[in-house]
Amino acid sequence: MTSISSILIVGAGQAAAVAASALRDHGYSGRITVVGNEAHAPYERPPLSKSVLAAVDTPEPAIAVKAPDFFHSQQVDLRLGVEVCALDPSARQAVLSDGTRLGYDRCLLATGGTARTLPAFPASSPAVHYLRTLDDARALRARLRPGQHIAVVGGGFLGLEIASTALGLGVDVSIVETAPRVLARVVPPIFSAWMQERIAQYGAKLYTGQAIADVQLPDDAGQPAILGLADGTRIQAAAVAVAIGLAPSTLLAGSAGLRVDMSNGGIAVDAHCRSSDPYIYAAGDCTSQTRADTALPLRLESWQNANEQARIAACSMLGQDAEPAAYPWFWTDQFDCNIQMLGLPRPDLDYIVRGSLDSASDSPRFIMLGLHGGKPYQALAVNAGGDLRALRPLLERALPVEAAQFCDESMTVRAFAKAAQALAATPG
Ligand SMILES: Cc1cc2nc3c(=O)[nH]c(=O)nc-3n(C[C@H](O)[C@H](O)[C@H](O)COP(=O)(O)OP(=O)(O)OC[C@H]3O[C@@H](n4cnc5c(N)ncnc54)[C@H](O)[C@@H]3O)c2cc1C
Repeated sequence: MTSISSILIVGAGQAAAVAASALRDHGYSGRITVVGNEAHAPYERPPLSKSVLAAVDTPEPAIAVKAPDFFHSQQVDLRLGVEVCALDPSARQAVLSDGTRLGYDRCLLATGGTARTLPAFPASSPAVHYLRTLDDARALRARLRPGQHIAVVGGGFLGLEIASTALGLGVDVSIVETAPRVLARVVPPIFSAWMQERIAQYGAKLYTGQAIADVQLPDDAGQPAILGLADGTRIQAAAVAVAIGLAPSTLLAGSAGLRVDMSNGGIAVDAHCRSSDPYIYAAGDCTSQTRADTALPLRLESWQNANEQARIAACSMLGQDAEPAAYPWFWTDQFDCNIQMLGLPRPDLDYIVRGSLDSASDSPRFIMLGLHGGKPYQALAVNAGGDLRALRPLLERALPVEAAQFCDESMTVRAFAKAAQALAATPG
């Protein structure tokens, strides 16, 4: 391999910061330049809809991905408020919005994505809020006043987190979801049903299976927005938070001629995070990676995926072998529940439940295990993260499990997992 003395990282978010750190950890001492178009040093986005949004009367929590002196002490050239406008793969050069041209031996695209928008809800309207950045979170937080009513468009994890945080601040909330149930893309119907009961317990109004037929937006922030639903319901809201997913930022990659996956819009990368250009890699929310288990391309939007792909891309850029990516894991905090998900949703899973689905409980606690042919492929844990960790080896290796034993609460999950592993290790 030719020697590498200059690595350019485009984007200054989660994957960028983790990749810069991993490059140094793996012994790379050459130049690292990180270019980000936001004004802030890399920060964690998960708190934006949780503790940052809730910080109305409390100090905003610290959310930096790395300690403040990291970039200086690790000699990483961090350039903020600057956009990479173009890449010239044949010259291995990038053009920045300040006119600078930067050469690179390897380039990592860690460009994340932007909130997907709806034409009926232009971001320019004073009543409309999208949530992707720290600045977005601060703007939405300023609209969360006790006794006011907000509408949340989108019943995915992000929309529900916004609703939960707003309710916690004494704000009235209506949630509108066009699908027949919340979280439809990621969890089974039995989990959605439990979540919908929980949402109702907390006093939010939930409209599922509802198209928004008409929207009236005010000219100034003092006036309410009005959402007319297909069934005639009219929702009057001081603000509308729209959370309908992510549009991966792939313009740069596309115009540089890199392969972008038409099925999901992500930059196509292999298991080593290599793009279709031998000197350009990609990591995080902007990627579409073909999975070894399904041979299908997948775009994951999760904190863990950004970290794992950043670590793998750093090794690959240095020509080193990387540990394979960890089994997919996701978490969310909402409605006083810590919800963790191991594995990915599949339409062919049958779910078994351990624990009570009492949605009115002060601290609900249960695990759902999604089985196919008696083997687990997805697990959902509510306030049971420790138990989920114990189950991880069973999912990673798709070991057969006994449904009745899993549901029997007289046996701990740890003992159950050990027994299943022991059985799998028994010859014959
Ligand atoms: C509100 C919110 C809550 C979330 N909650 C959870 C959660 O509970 N659990 C979970 O697992 N995940 C959660 N996520 C998802 C997680 O935060 C993301 O998956 C992760 O941040 C992705 O990291 P990334 O580095 O790929 O992208 P980002 O962190 O988005 O970073 C990309 C950066 O690149 C910049 N950029 C783009 N193009 C250019 C360019 N041409 N030049 C310069 N800079 C550029 C962008 O502006 C951005 O700053 C949440 C996300 C949000 C927004």
